[in-house]
Amino acid sequence: MVMMNDIERKALNEKLNNPQKDVRCPRCGNIINYDKRGNSIAVECATKDCIYGGIRGI
Ligand SMILES: [Zn+2]
Repeated sequence: MVMMNDIERKALNEKLNNPQKDVRCPRCGNIINYDKRGNSIAVECATKDCIYGGIRGI
């Protein structure tokens, strides 16, 4: 599990709420990807093993 601070969590939430927006990872500056998988949504930094998050069961 990746430890995240409030700023990083906010960036992931921003991307979740605004899939079309170009949101950058506060940790490394890479893009954050929005990925809909079935009935869940994942948001994660394009850098491997960086920050990630998402929601399930929508
Ligand atoms: Zn990153």
